[in-house]
Amino acid sequence: MTNVLWLQGGACSGNTMSFLNAEEPSAVDLVTDFGLNVLWHPSLGVELGENVTAILEKCVSGEIQLDVFVFEGSVIQAPNGTGNWNRFAGKPMMEWVRALSDVSGFVVAIGDCATYGGIPAVPPNPSESTGMQFLKKDAGGFLGPDFRAKAGLPVINIPGCPAHPDWITQIIVALATGRGGDLSLDEYQRPATFFTSFTQTGCTRNMHFAYKVSTTEFGQRKGCLFYDLGCRGPFTRSPCNRILWNRVSSKTRAGMPCIGCTEPEFPHHDLAVGTVFATPTTLGLPNEVPVGMSKRSYLQVVAAGKGAAPQWAKDDMFVV
Ligand code: SF4
Repeated sequence: MTNVLWLQGGACSGNTMSFLNAEEPSAVDLVTDFGLNVLWHPSLGVELGENVTAILEKCVSGEIQLDVFVFEGSVIQAPNGTGNWNRFAGKPMMEWVRALSDVSGFVVAIGDCATYGGIPAVPPNPSESTGMQFLKKDAGGFLGPDFRAKAGLPVINIPGCPAHPDWITQIIVALATGRGGDLSLDEYQRPATFFTSFTQTGCTRNMHFAYKVSTTEFGQRKGCLFYDLGCRGPFTRSPCNRILWNRVSSKTRAGMPCIGCTEPEFPHHDLAVGTVFATPTTLGLPNEVPVGMSKRSYLQVVAAGKGAAPQWAKDDMFVV
Protein backbone atom coordinates (compact mmCIF):
# COMPACT_ATOMS: atom_id res chain seq x y z
CA MET A 1 0.00 0.00 0.00
CA THR A 2 1.38 3.42 -1.00
CA ASN A 3 -0.07 6.43 0.80
CA VAL A 4 -0.52 9.42 -1.52
CA LEU A 5 -1.68 12.88 -0.57
CA TRP A 6 -2.51 15.47 -3.26
CA LEU A 7 -2.98 19.17 -2.45
CA GLN A 8 -3.57 22.26 -4.60
CA GLY A 9 -2.14 25.76 -4.23
CA GLY A 10 -2.51 28.49 -6.86
CA ALA A 11 -4.13 26.21 -9.38
CA CYS A 12 -6.89 26.04 -11.99
CA SER A 13 -7.39 22.27 -11.36
CA GLY A 14 -6.20 21.56 -14.91
CA ASN A 15 -3.77 18.89 -13.77
CA THR A 16 -6.42 17.20 -11.66
CA MET A 17 -8.69 17.14 -14.72
CA SER A 18 -5.85 15.69 -16.76
CA PHE A 19 -5.12 13.06 -14.10
CA LEU A 20 -8.79 11.99 -14.04
CA ASN A 21 -8.60 11.42 -17.81
CA ALA A 22 -5.74 8.95 -17.48
CA GLU A 23 -6.17 5.62 -19.27
CA GLU A 24 -2.92 3.68 -19.05
CA PRO A 25 -3.17 3.27 -16.14
CA SER A 26 -6.31 5.09 -15.09
CA ALA A 27 -6.79 6.74 -11.70
CA VAL A 28 -8.94 3.74 -10.70
CA ASP A 29 -6.23 1.29 -11.84
CA LEU A 30 -3.80 3.04 -9.53
CA VAL A 31 -6.00 2.04 -6.60
CA THR A 32 -7.09 -1.43 -7.70
CA ASP A 33 -3.92 -2.69 -9.45
CA PHE A 34 -1.07 -0.72 -7.92
CA GLY A 35 -2.09 -0.45 -4.28
CA LEU A 36 -2.44 3.30 -4.14
CA ASN A 37 -4.16 4.63 -1.05
CA VAL A 38 -5.27 8.20 -1.75
CA LEU A 39 -5.30 9.80 1.69
CA TRP A 40 -6.93 12.93 0.31
CA HIS A 41 -7.35 14.77 -2.99
CA PRO A 42 -9.27 18.03 -3.58
CA SER A 43 -11.65 16.37 -6.07
CA LEU A 44 -11.62 12.76 -4.87
CA GLY A 45 -11.35 13.12 -1.09
CA VAL A 46 -14.57 12.44 0.79
CA GLU A 47 -13.48 13.96 4.11
CA LEU A 48 -14.39 17.55 4.91
CA GLY A 49 -13.32 20.24 7.36
CA GLU A 50 -11.66 19.02 10.56
CA ASN A 51 -11.27 15.52 9.17
CA VAL A 52 -8.99 16.84 6.44
CA THR A 53 -6.94 18.75 9.00
CA ALA A 54 -6.65 15.56 11.06
CA ILE A 55 -5.27 13.61 8.07
CA LEU A 56 -2.68 16.29 7.36
CA GLU A 57 -1.65 16.49 11.01
CA LYS A 58 -1.28 12.70 11.25
CA CYS A 59 0.97 12.77 8.17
CA VAL A 60 3.13 15.50 9.67
CA SER A 61 3.40 13.71 13.04
CA GLY A 62 4.25 10.40 11.38
CA GLU A 63 1.12 8.63 12.67
CA ILE A 64 0.29 8.10 8.99
CA GLN A 65 3.27 7.29 6.79
CA LEU A 66 3.25 9.64 3.83
CA ASP A 67 4.87 7.95 0.83
CA VAL A 68 4.10 10.40 -1.96
CA PHE A 69 3.14 14.05 -1.59
CA VAL A 70 1.75 15.52 -4.82
CA PHE A 71 1.38 19.27 -5.17
CA GLU A 72 -0.51 21.03 -7.96
CA GLY A 73 -0.41 24.82 -8.47
CA SER A 74 2.01 27.51 -7.41
CA VAL A 75 3.09 28.03 -3.82
CA ILE A 76 1.43 31.33 -2.89
CA GLN A 77 3.44 33.39 -0.40
CA ALA A 78 1.41 36.65 -0.48
CA PRO A 79 0.87 38.96 1.22
CA ASN A 80 4.35 39.89 2.39
CA GLY A 81 5.53 36.31 2.69
CA THR A 82 2.77 35.26 5.09
CA GLY A 83 0.95 32.95 2.67
CA ASN A 84 -2.37 34.15 4.06
CA TRP A 85 -3.87 34.56 0.58
CA ASN A 86 -4.02 30.77 0.34
CA ARG A 87 -5.12 29.32 3.66
CA PHE A 88 -6.14 25.68 3.90
CA ALA A 89 -7.08 23.46 6.84
CA GLY A 90 -6.40 26.18 9.38
CA LYS A 91 -3.12 27.66 8.18
CA PRO A 92 -1.34 29.02 5.13
CA MET A 93 -1.04 26.28 2.50
CA MET A 94 2.67 27.00 2.20
CA GLU A 95 3.17 25.85 5.81
CA TRP A 96 1.51 22.51 4.99
CA VAL A 97 3.69 22.23 1.89
CA ARG A 98 6.88 22.57 3.89
CA ALA A 99 5.79 20.29 6.72
CA LEU A 100 4.44 17.56 4.42
CA SER A 101 7.46 17.73 2.09
CA ASP A 102 9.75 17.17 5.08
CA VAL A 103 8.06 13.89 6.04
CA SER A 104 7.24 12.45 2.62
CA GLY A 105 9.15 9.67 0.88
CA PHE A 106 8.77 11.41 -2.48
CA VAL A 107 7.53 14.87 -3.44
CA VAL A 108 6.00 15.35 -6.89
CA ALA A 109 5.17 18.74 -8.41
CA ILE A 110 2.52 18.49 -11.12
CA GLY A 111 2.04 21.13 -13.81
CA ASP A 112 3.95 24.24 -14.71
CA CYS A 113 2.75 26.30 -11.72
CA ALA A 114 3.93 23.77 -9.13
CA THR A 115 7.20 23.05 -10.93
CA TYR A 116 8.41 26.48 -12.03
CA GLY A 117 5.77 29.02 -10.96
CA GLY A 118 3.94 29.11 -14.30
CA ILE A 119 1.65 31.98 -15.21
CA PRO A 120 1.01 33.04 -11.57
CA ALA A 121 4.73 33.79 -11.14
CA VAL A 122 4.94 36.10 -14.15
CA PRO A 123 6.00 39.62 -13.05
CA PRO A 124 4.67 41.57 -11.22
CA ASN A 125 3.58 38.34 -9.48
CA PRO A 126 1.18 39.86 -6.92
CA SER A 127 0.53 36.45 -5.32
CA GLU A 128 4.30 36.06 -4.68
CA SER A 129 3.99 32.67 -6.35
CA THR A 130 6.87 30.29 -6.85
CA GLY A 131 7.41 26.69 -7.84
CA MET A 132 8.21 23.97 -5.32
CA GLN A 133 11.95 23.92 -6.02
CA PHE A 134 12.38 26.35 -8.93
CA LEU A 135 11.30 29.85 -9.83
CA LYS A 136 11.42 29.73 -13.60
CA LYS A 137 14.96 28.54 -14.43
CA ASP A 138 16.40 29.42 -11.04
CA ALA A 139 16.87 26.53 -8.62
CA GLY A 140 15.50 27.15 -5.14
CA GLY A 141 11.82 27.96 -5.35
CA PHE A 142 9.89 27.45 -2.13
CA LEU A 143 11.73 24.48 -0.65
CA GLY A 144 15.25 25.63 -1.51
CA PRO A 145 17.87 24.07 -3.80
CA ASP A 146 19.13 21.58 -1.22
CA PHE A 147 15.77 20.02 -0.38
CA ARG A 148 15.64 16.25 -0.63
CA ALA A 149 12.63 14.10 0.20
CA LYS A 150 13.14 11.18 2.59
CA ALA A 151 13.93 8.75 -0.22
CA GLY A 152 16.77 11.02 -1.31
CA LEU A 153 15.35 12.64 -4.44
CA PRO A 154 14.66 16.34 -4.95
CA VAL A 155 11.15 17.35 -6.01
CA ILE A 156 10.18 15.33 -9.09
CA ASN A 157 8.92 17.91 -11.58
CA ILE A 158 6.23 16.90 -14.08
CA PRO A 159 5.55 20.17 -15.93
CA GLY A 160 2.94 20.99 -18.57
CA CYS A 161 -0.13 23.15 -18.74
CA PRO A 162 -1.53 20.67 -17.99
CA ALA A 163 0.77 17.66 -17.68
CA HIS A 164 -0.29 14.71 -19.84
CA PRO A 165 -2.27 12.12 -17.82
CA ASP A 166 0.20 9.34 -18.66
CA TRP A 167 3.18 11.34 -17.43
CA ILE A 168 1.45 11.71 -14.07
CA THR A 169 0.18 8.17 -13.61
CA GLN A 170 3.28 6.42 -14.92
CA ILE A 171 5.55 8.30 -12.53
CA ILE A 172 3.19 7.56 -9.64
CA VAL A 173 3.23 3.87 -10.63
CA ALA A 174 7.04 3.92 -10.67
CA LEU A 175 7.02 5.33 -7.13
CA ALA A 176 4.32 2.93 -5.94
CA THR A 177 6.18 -0.10 -7.29
CA GLY A 178 9.48 0.76 -5.64
CA ARG A 179 11.21 2.04 -8.78
CA GLY A 180 11.44 5.67 -7.67
CA GLY A 181 15.17 5.33 -7.02
CA ASP A 182 15.71 4.42 -10.68
CA LEU A 183 14.24 7.70 -11.93
CA SER A 184 16.69 9.78 -13.87
CA LEU A 185 15.97 13.53 -13.68
CA ASP A 186 17.25 16.26 -15.98
CA GLU A 187 18.66 19.64 -14.90
CA TYR A 188 15.14 20.93 -14.23
CA GLN A 189 14.28 17.75 -12.29
CA ARG A 190 11.99 16.38 -15.01
CA PRO A 191 11.94 12.59 -15.54
CA ALA A 192 14.32 12.04 -18.45
CA THR A 193 12.11 9.29 -19.83
CA PHE A 194 9.54 11.91 -20.84
CA PHE A 195 11.55 15.09 -21.21
CA THR A 196 14.64 14.28 -23.26
CA SER A 197 13.21 14.45 -26.78
CA PHE A 198 11.54 17.54 -28.21
CA THR A 199 7.88 18.19 -29.04
CA GLN A 200 9.05 18.18 -32.64
CA THR A 201 9.94 14.48 -32.38
CA GLY A 202 7.06 12.68 -34.07
CA CYS A 203 5.36 15.82 -35.36
CA THR A 204 3.53 15.17 -38.61
CA ARG A 205 4.78 18.52 -39.92
CA ASN A 206 8.50 17.72 -39.78
CA MET A 207 8.81 17.47 -43.56
CA HIS A 208 7.19 20.87 -43.87
CA PHE A 209 9.69 22.22 -41.37
CA ALA A 210 12.51 20.82 -43.49
CA TYR A 211 11.04 22.27 -46.71
CA LYS A 212 10.26 25.60 -45.04
CA VAL A 213 6.60 25.48 -45.99
CA SER A 214 4.67 27.55 -43.47
CA THR A 215 1.28 27.22 -41.83
CA THR A 216 -0.30 30.67 -41.85
CA GLU A 217 -3.58 30.07 -39.98
CA PHE A 218 -4.62 27.96 -36.99
CA GLY A 219 -6.01 24.59 -37.98
CA GLN A 220 -4.47 24.59 -41.45
CA ARG A 221 -3.62 21.07 -42.56
CA LYS A 222 -0.44 21.97 -44.35
CA GLY A 223 2.85 23.53 -43.49
CA CYS A 224 4.88 23.91 -40.33
CA LEU A 225 3.81 26.19 -37.49
CA PHE A 226 7.34 27.43 -36.76
CA TYR A 227 7.88 30.07 -39.41
CA ASP A 228 4.84 32.30 -38.84
CA LEU A 229 2.94 31.07 -35.78
CA GLY A 230 5.72 30.78 -33.20
CA CYS A 231 5.66 27.01 -32.65
CA ARG A 232 8.11 26.14 -29.86
CA GLY A 233 8.34 22.46 -30.81
CA PRO A 234 12.07 22.68 -31.66
CA PHE A 235 12.88 24.21 -28.24
CA THR A 236 10.55 22.29 -25.95
CA ARG A 237 11.31 18.99 -24.29
CA SER A 238 8.11 16.98 -24.16
CA PRO A 239 6.75 13.76 -25.69
CA CYS A 240 3.51 15.40 -26.92
CA ASN A 241 3.96 13.89 -30.40
CA ARG A 242 5.08 10.48 -29.11
CA ILE A 243 2.52 9.97 -26.34
CA LEU A 244 -0.52 11.47 -27.99
CA TRP A 245 -3.30 13.31 -26.20
CA ASN A 246 -6.49 11.24 -25.94
CA ARG A 247 -4.39 8.68 -27.88
CA VAL A 248 -5.10 10.50 -31.16
CA SER A 249 -3.71 14.00 -31.38
CA SER A 250 -1.47 16.81 -30.23
CA LYS A 251 -1.49 20.56 -30.55
CA THR A 252 0.66 20.58 -33.68
CA ARG A 253 -1.34 17.78 -35.29
CA ALA A 254 -4.46 19.87 -34.80
CA GLY A 255 -2.82 22.97 -36.28
CA MET A 256 -2.04 24.78 -33.06
CA PRO A 257 1.55 25.79 -32.27
CA CYS A 258 3.36 24.30 -29.30
CA ILE A 259 3.54 27.02 -26.62
CA GLY A 260 6.43 25.46 -24.72
CA CYS A 261 4.52 24.75 -21.52
CA THR A 262 6.94 22.10 -20.24
CA GLU A 263 9.86 24.52 -20.10
CA PRO A 264 10.66 26.61 -17.01
CA GLU A 265 10.36 29.96 -18.83
CA PHE A 266 6.72 29.32 -19.80
CA PRO A 267 4.72 31.43 -20.79
CA HIS A 268 7.80 32.79 -22.65
CA HIS A 269 6.09 36.03 -23.76
CA ASP A 270 4.63 39.04 -22.07
CA LEU A 271 1.01 37.93 -22.20
CA ALA A 272 -0.19 41.53 -22.15
CA VAL A 273 1.67 42.25 -25.39
CA GLY A 274 0.12 39.25 -27.13
CA THR A 275 3.05 37.93 -29.14
CA VAL A 276 2.43 34.31 -28.22
CA PHE A 277 1.54 33.15 -31.72
CA ALA A 278 4.28 34.84 -33.68
CA THR A 279 7.89 34.06 -34.49
CA PRO A 280 10.01 37.08 -33.58
CA THR A 281 12.59 37.71 -36.31
CA THR A 282 15.48 40.04 -36.98
CA LEU A 283 16.29 40.71 -40.63
CA GLY A 284 14.18 37.69 -41.57
CA LEU A 285 16.04 35.31 -39.24
CA PRO A 286 14.19 33.85 -36.21
CA ASN A 287 15.59 35.23 -32.97
CA GLU A 288 15.75 31.65 -31.68
CA VAL A 289 16.83 28.80 -33.93
CA PRO A 290 16.15 25.12 -33.11
CA VAL A 291 18.17 23.74 -30.20
CA GLY A 292 21.47 22.33 -31.45
CA MET A 293 21.63 24.48 -34.62
CA SER A 294 23.72 27.58 -35.18
CA LYS A 295 22.14 30.47 -37.05
CA ARG A 296 24.49 29.75 -39.92
CA SER A 297 23.52 26.07 -40.21
CA TYR A 298 19.84 27.01 -39.83
CA LEU A 299 20.14 29.39 -42.80
CA GLN A 300 21.86 26.73 -44.89
CA VAL A 301 19.22 24.10 -44.08
CA VAL A 302 16.18 26.27 -44.79
CA ALA A 303 17.69 27.69 -47.96
CA ALA A 304 18.34 24.19 -49.30
CA GLY A 305 15.00 22.85 -48.07
CA LYS A 306 12.95 25.69 -49.49
CA GLY A 307 14.55 25.31 -52.90
CA ALA A 308 13.88 21.55 -52.89
CA ALA A 309 10.26 21.66 -51.62
CA PRO A 310 8.05 19.42 -53.80
CA GLN A 311 4.51 20.45 -54.68
CA TRP A 312 2.93 17.95 -52.26
CA ALA A 313 4.58 19.72 -49.34
CA LYS A 314 2.57 22.82 -50.23
CA ASP A 315 -0.76 21.00 -50.50
CA ASP A 316 -3.32 20.11 -47.86
CA MET A 317 -2.25 16.90 -46.05
CA PHE A 318 -5.75 15.45 -45.99
CA VAL A 319 -7.79 16.06 -49.12
CA VAL A 320 -11.44 15.15 -48.53
S1 SF4 B 1 8.05 23.56 -35.56
FE1 SF4 B 1 6.19 22.78 -34.59
S2 SF4 B 1 4.76 22.30 -36.29
FE2 SF4 B 1 6.82 22.53 -37.17
S3 SF4 B 1 7.61 20.43 -37.25
FE3 SF4 B 1 8.34 21.36 -35.31
S4 SF4 B 1 6.80 20.78 -33.77
FE4 SF4 B 1 5.88 20.42 -35.82
